[in-house]
Formats: sequence, C-alpha cells, structure tokens
Amino acid sequence: MKHGKGMAQAVVLVMVVLALALPALATAQTTRAVVTVNAQWVKQGGLTTVYVAGDQITNVTGMFQERGVYFYPSKLGYKALLSASIDLKADTYPLQLLIEYADGTSERIDQPVTVASGGYATVSLYVVGALLPLTDPTVEDAEIAKVFNIMDRFTPARYWDGGFILPNPNDLVAWFGTYRSYNGQSYLSRHTGIDIAVGEGVPVPVSASGRVVLSQPLPIRGGYVLVDHGWGIYTGYAHLSERFVVPGDWVNQGDVIGMSGMTGRVTGAHIHFEIAVDGAWIDPEDFLALGLDTATE
Ligand SMILES: [Zn+2]
Repeated sequence: MKHGKGMAQAVVLVMVVLALALPALATAQTTRAVVTVNAQWVKQGGLTTVYVAGDQITNVTGMFQERGVYFYPSKLGYKALLSASIDLKADTYPLQLLIEYADGTSERIDQPVTVASGGYATVSLYVVGALLPLTDPTVEDAEIAKVFNIMDRFTPARYWDGGFILPNPNDLVAWFGTYRSYNGQSYLSRHTGIDIAVGEGVPVPVSASGRVVLSQPLPIRGGYVLVDHGWGIYTGYAHLSERFVVPGDWVNQGDVIGMSGMTGRVTGAHIHFEIAVDGAWIDPEDFLALGLDTATE
C-alpha cells in the first residue's frame, strides 16, 4: 500500500510538472521568428542592433519605452537600431515586437532588453562671467525642448548611404553623458554629445548624407546645424563660427556645413558632435562602433 500511494503521488507530480511545462513548450513552438539582440545589455545613452529572422516574414514593427523601433530588411533578417535614453532607469524592459507573415498571420513577442547604468561621471566646468546666464536651467530646458521637437520626428526614408564618419579625427576633450556642474552650482546638465579638440575656423564636414533641419544660433549650442539622416537618425554640430547651410538643404557625406568655433556655452574652441536615434541622444562613439554600412547589409 505504501508503494501504491507513493506511485500515485509520483504520477500526480509528473502530471503537475507536465501541466506547468506544456504552456511554455506551446509558446516556444508557436514562435516562428528568432529574435537576436546583439548585446547582453544596452547602457543608458547607448544602442545596439536587433535582428528578427524567420521564413515568410513580411514586416516587423517594434516599440520600446513607448518609442517606435524601425525594422528594415537586411541580409541577416529584419534589422533595427535599439537606443536607450540616457535618463532611462537601469532595469529590464520589453521590446514589444509585432511580426507579420506572408500567410496573413502575425505574432507578438516581448523580447526582454536590459538597460545598464552608463556609469557617467560628474565634472566641474567654469565659464567666464558673461556666459553665466547660460547656466540657468530654464535656458537649457528651452533649448533642449526646441532641438528635441525636431530630432524626435521619425523620417521613414533613408537619406544616408554607406555609413557615418566623425566630423574630425582629433582627440576628444569631453565624453558623452557626463553630468556637468557649471561654476560650482548644484544644477547638473547632461552632455549630449562628444567634444572634439579643434581650434577655430576648421571646416566641419557632415557625418553622412541627409537633409538640414536646423541651422541657427542657439544660446548654449551656439552656431548649430542639425541634420536628419532618415530612419530616426540625426547628427548635430555645435559652437560653429560660421554656417554654410539652411534648413531644407540636402547634404552629402563630407560636405562642409560650417566652420568650427567657440560660440555658445563653451570653455574654449571645439566641435560638439551629437547623435540622436529614435528621439534619444546616444553616445556617438557607440554609434560609430556599430559600423553601419548600407553597402554590406
Ligand atoms: Zn559638448
């Protein structure tokens, strides 16, 4: 009898295990697409590539943190750039995918993506007294809102061809993402790009082909040009002493859009170069390290 009872318990246990396991197996079997995120984690202000591969896929759409993630066909499947806002709390979030197939069916997959701390340092900067009004947070907020309203717009066409380049090969004097305190004040601003060591009056070539969407002096960025490259990618060039383009101009990679300078909130001459992907400023060094190249995709 003892053995019989033990056997019955074992059978029940097996049935419970099967019942628990079956839904998981069923989910695995109905997932027809393979999703690959090419990084174990994405840093705050960083990005990675995502591929969705499978037979008969006709379209892939994605959402991450309520922002659209644009997938386009490539040799390895549908590919997207996935960016994490610099302000996003380090945590794991779903990349919500809708995959459509030629037979008219579709499936939804929630792909977990881990966002890790960028480990950004705080630096103290000092500007001359005449520039102190530019350290007022309201000035910065207004400027960020103005630029964001443009670079948050998604252009479904691809304007760039090939890849992206730095506007100058010189060393960096300041890195992306740092918290910046000006003249000992407690307010911390964020560095939305990288600073390249370049004196005044050096030609500034555009990183990739695109369409100029902003060209004007701004309080903090000084002489500023913002270029839309399509597919949610924008590059910005700040502190220019001269600007040679106006909104609406089409530019090709390497075209000189202006001259370097020290206009706006600066401690010296340099090129401030910034890149936004899907409405988030991301680290230009990370972006260039992806080696995007339309010729090989
Ligand atoms: Zn800068």
